[in-house]
Amino acid sequence: MKKRLVILGGGESGVGTAILGVKQEFEVFVSDFGKIKEDYKKVLLHHKIEFEEEGHTIAKIMNAAVVMKSPGIPDTAPVIKQLKEADVRVISEIEFASAFTDATIVGITGSNGKTTTATLTYELLKKELNVALGGNIGKSFAEQVSDDSYGHYVLELSSFQLDGIEDFAPHIAVLTNLSPDHLDRYDYDYDKYIASKFRITMNQTKDDYFIYDADDEEIKKWLKIHEIKAKKLPFSLTQEVAEGAYIKDKQIILSIHNTQYIMPIATLGIQGQHNVKNAMAASTVATLLKIRKATIRESLENFQGVEHRLEKVLKIGNVMYINDSKATNVNATFYALDSMTSPTVWIVGGVDKGNDYADLLPLVNEKVKAIICLGVDNDKIINQFGNVVDMMVEATSMSEAVKIAYKLSERNDTVLLSPACASFDLFENYEDRGRQFKEAVRHL
Ligand code: ADP
Repeated sequence: MKKRLVILGGGESGVGTAILGVKQEFEVFVSDFGKIKEDYKKVLLHHKIEFEEEGHTIAKIMNAAVVMKSPGIPDTAPVIKQLKEADVRVISEIEFASAFTDATIVGITGSNGKTTTATLTYELLKKELNVALGGNIGKSFAEQVSDDSYGHYVLELSSFQLDGIEDFAPHIAVLTNLSPDHLDRYDYDYDKYIASKFRITMNQTKDDYFIYDADDEEIKKWLKIHEIKAKKLPFSLTQEVAEGAYIKDKQIILSIHNTQYIMPIATLGIQGQHNVKNAMAASTVATLLKIRKATIRESLENFQGVEHRLEKVLKIGNVMYINDSKATNVNATFYALDSMTSPTVWIVGGVDKGNDYADLLPLVNEKVKAIICLGVDNDKIINQFGNVVDMMVEATSMSEAVKIAYKLSERNDTVLLSPACASFDLFENYEDRGRQFKEAVRHL
């Protein structure tokens, strides 16, 4: 008899898992509490997969052998509570799909820099390896596993994906950094969120690798009290490391398995301290997977970054407009401001997830000439920075914000959208916010 696979959530990971489930001869049922997008419904119909939307039929869910929960569904959802009480196995897409592939897996997690590092790693590998990019990016990992044609996967992993693993073990794990985020899903307990990120190492063996930011205080603290089996390869901007990556004389030095590799920072396609770290992490992975130095160098030079992450939009009247809409927390905005090299008109604000802006004060003091607040409630930003900058204006739409920025900026300034907040008050999501910014800039 076929085993029953129930999938909660009919989005990218759900539909991908459904396709893989059918291929692996499960009896598959997809249930979504909300509406399923038309495109995904078509795929489900095409594969003759049974589904329901706008509600869960509990009787059709509780009889599952295994349940794949979309990362967007919290453990507090009534259906998940019921499943857990009944001891039904509830896992994530990554756990389900990785059981059906022998490919080498590179898993990348962290509070910021996941997408950039995963995309860059993929770029470094793809010239020489048959590699796919998945997880929280692009096409679902499970669907790609159903193709059965890749030897390597680079996966961007959120803490929610990692919460749903049991045996998943990446051969190479990367932890880019830690800063508080999504705490609403972790009982507002930062330690629980950190523990969730470190699950990426929990099934690794001594033949695997763990690449991490050795300058990150929280990571250092965790590693002091916990053992991990994988071989540790740190990267650092501030100290030399025996094995791993570090900076000397404005060059990245990679030192792995007794080979050394040197790359001047100035030749990197993406700039900013945070991107130097992302480049160190990605090239450590590439070196472990024996990518040639010339290929690594060329890809690092050519990579221009990912849309909405410190993306250069246009130069108008010698003012550069930069879209960093993906900066949805203070830490990401810290690195954006840190990488500014000219007086900056800063567009900030949105839905604040419990932000503490104090860390930004020195940078704002040094680099920001004007602040444009773009949120429904801007009080916290006004209170924090009102005395620090000369000009502070509130805007109610992106086009208004960009027009004000245009007026306030002078030759050689930079206009930076780096909101440090989520976007749901005025925009559909961060992509919508970034697109509206770019469009408004192009209309100036
Ligand atoms: P994630 O996928 O983890 O959200 P992204 O690569 O999409 O990470 O970048 C999110 C935001 O964080 C962007 O504003 C980007 O400029 C910034 N960022 C990228 N890499 C880092 C890093 N290593 N440390 C801190 N911030 C970063």
